Amino acid sequence: MLDQLGLAEQLAQQCFACRQTVNYDRNGKEVPGRGWSFMEEMKDTKWDFALVLRQKYQEDIFRQALRRHGIQLDAPYTLTSFELIDAVALGGFRILATIEHRDTKAKSVVKCRYLVGADGGKSFVRRAMKIPFDGSSTEDKWVRIDGVVETDMPKPRSYAAIESPTHGNVLWADPNEVLGLVMKEAATFSSGLGIYYEPDTCLTFSQSSGLSSIQAGQRAPDVPLQKPATFEATRLQTETPNHATFYIVVFAGEVAQTKPSLTAFTKAISGAKWLFDSKLPVQWLSVLAGPGGPSTFETLEGMPFGRVFYDEDHSAHNRYDIDLKKGTVFVFRPDGWVGTLVEMDESAVGKLKKYFSRFLVGLESLHKAKL
Ligand SMILES: Cc1cc2nc3c(=O)[nH]c(=O)nc-3n(C[C@H](O)[C@H](O)[C@H](O)COP(=O)(O)OP(=O)(O)OC[C@H]3O[C@@H](n4cnc5c(N)ncnc54)[C@H](O)[C@@H]3O)c2cc1C
Repeated sequence: MLDQLGLAEQLAQQCFACRQTVNYDRNGKEVPGRGWSFMEEMKDTKWDFALVLRQKYQEDIFRQALRRHGIQLDAPYTLTSFELIDAVALGGFRILATIEHRDTKAKSVVKCRYLVGADGGKSFVRRAMKIPFDGSSTEDKWVRIDGVVETDMPKPRSYAAIESPTHGNVLWADPNEVLGLVMKEAATFSSGLGIYYEPDTCLTFSQSSGLSSIQAGQRAPDVPLQKPATFEATRLQTETPNHATFYIVVFAGEVAQTKPSLTAFTKAISGAKWLFDSKLPVQWLSVLAGPGGPSTFETLEGMPFGRVFYDEDHSAHNRYDIDLKKGTVFVFRPDGWVGTLVEMDESAVGKLKKYFSRFLVGLESLHKAKL
């Protein structure tokens, strides 16, 4: 997600990229498969490591990025109270929030439309709004040490866990072996790559089956691609940044074999001018199976959809489990998750319209279409 938001590169410049883990049992003996070992199972991403960087440096990077977008973050302020003005309609400035500067204790009142409670486990907003807390609390006390440590521990540049003689590894509790396995199985969840959305009626829903092993609601896997003409290497994630834009990605298969369906698709789509309106938050990408040639136009015998990339060794089509003789059209949501996927044929236009008309209004009339 940070990569698609254009933040990962800067973090990578400053971080310690940790790829190794180590676990010591209560006797100081190294034991594999426990503790953080599941982190070594983070696959299917270029970012297959723990990016270690002190929080204050990360915050600097995020603040600079916010500033570039004209957003100023005021800190350190504490929200101490707020008032809801019922007379103001939803969407209006109906919240009066009182904030206090941590050092000067100066108070100010901010008028706002929405109050987003992103204030942690002991959230003031949650308690003030009487929102119930799902989950359990612990009486355990935690100690966090942030400093430069001198150590003679072997493998000091690894992500290390040391089990206590009396409590084992308190982060995961006993029995360590079983939990090591559980964490390993949950590795895709812990890394975020395996998190998926259930189908809904608006943004994430299936319209076809048997086209791909990647379904609506799953994260679109990152795959290597080749640029036309220069044949430089790139990645699908790099070419689909999160600019609040949806991407229609046409995995065209082997063009020599998919020509009839690609032609049917092209013909049907050319009648739906709204799909190419530059004012809409929709962009097109075509991924052709096989290495790039001198001219995409010649390969396709026509103009391509949006920007074209080549899947030189078929690894992209294989990862998505797409039939090279059929191709498939994906819609990626701005956050990089799959919104829907449809056949690459004349039926696609109706299905794409069905998808986008759930949240875009005025589709048939270009100058009126909006989110
Ligand atoms: C020691 C430790 C190690 C961890 N290690 C990992 C790990 O390796 N991997 C992992 O995935 N997770 C880890 N976690 C968990 C992870 O840090 C949290 O789940 C995550 O930070 C929660 O994010 P959040 O945005 O909900 O809240 P937080 O990160 O807690 O952010 C809440 C923010 O709101 C601010 N705030 C609170 N009250 C107010 C108020 N009234 N007004 C204004 N601001 C307020 C706080 O100052 C804070 O800046 C760890 C947690 C701890 C404590």
